[in-house]
Amino acid sequence: MLKNQHAVKGMRWSKQELVEALAAENGRDIFKKADLLREAVCGDEVHRRGLIEFSNYCARNCHYCGLRRDNSKLTRYRMSEDEIVESAQNAKKLGYRTVVLQSGEDGGFTTDALCRTVEKIKQKTNLAITLSVGEKTKNEFRRLKSTGSDRYLMRFETSNRGLYERLRPGASLDTRLENLKVLRELGYQVGSGCMIGLPGQTLEDLADDLLLMEKMDLDMVGVGPFIPHPETPLKNSPRGDLKLTLKFVALVRLVTRNTHIPATTALGSIHPFGRQMALERGANVLMPNVTPEKYRKFYEIYPNKICITEKPSDCAGCVGSMIHSLGRKIAKGYGHSLKQRREA
Ligand code: SAH
Ligand code: SF4
Repeated sequence: MLKNQHAVKGMRWSKQELVEALAAENGRDIFKKADLLREAVCGDEVHRRGLIEFSNYCARNCHYCGLRRDNSKLTRYRMSEDEIVESAQNAKKLGYRTVVLQSGEDGGFTTDALCRTVEKIKQKTNLAITLSVGEKTKNEFRRLKSTGSDRYLMRFETSNRGLYERLRPGASLDTRLENLKVLRELGYQVGSGCMIGLPGQTLEDLADDLLLMEKMDLDMVGVGPFIPHPETPLKNSPRGDLKLTLKFVALVRLVTRNTHIPATTALGSIHPFGRQMALERGANVLMPNVTPEKYRKFYEIYPNKICITEKPSDCAGCVGSMIHSLGRKIAKGYGHSLKQRREA
């Protein structure tokens, strides 16, 4: 439910203003504004989404990602349907109301299998289900929607077409955006986002990313710093900057206003208080990991990822304390889109 309808309508940002805000030495002004706006539109509640990383097989070869097809050093795993359902049941026991099923683009885990898994989770838990399994055909998306999945996350990664197509061989930005449009038409709550600090990315590109997010009228926006992985072509590129990422998170709030914004694991992986800082600068969601311990270290999208030795219950304790230490509250509802006002 929207706490303050007025807060949702705000000033429009021009590209120049966004570039200046991103370039500013000091982000304090936008940090404060983003925190106030978060409070007005989301309140003090922080939503927890239990993340199940169910397969690290991927048919794609994204230059930034450790799961890319050509990374032959990675031990691949694919959880069984039953294991995924059990992890979702565990998420429910830990008090979460949503699970996010994420994987590489794994042809070995068919859409039929995913549909069955979604159905079983719905039957057994009634949790909200978010999918983050990459690009599919319209027909596949439709089938997945009809099984009861509620939300879909698919970042556009960068709005710079040249950069996108260089970093994602064989993929096109238009196709990605078309996929996102289809997901919206099918009635999904849609999340997208980008990485900060990709090699060759400029502040103008980041301003364009923000304007694209505004135009897409997203329900959820996830952003994190790019972190170079040693087994990828970008191994020698510098990682995304903490402060720039935090300024970007604040601007996501100020530009998109009533969206759900996670304090991402990537931010927590480049600074011990990265997620806390994001929660104080516009974010209102955490994504505790509920993947079984034995698989975690293999879902190595980037190195030095946090929580790879923890159990699901450790992560539950950790995010709970984090929320309370900031004087915030654990959300009790499903945390559906703030735009559709479907909060249960
Ligand atoms: N295969 C799906 C979902 C898994 S990847 C997809 O690509 O949509 C989830 C996200 O991890 C990607 O959207 C990307 O933004 C992020 N990611 C990949 N490699 C990364 C890296 N090296 N540093 C930071 N984030 C990365
Ligand atoms: Fe595969 Fe997603 Fe990684 Fe690209 S970002 S290689 S699609 S898991």
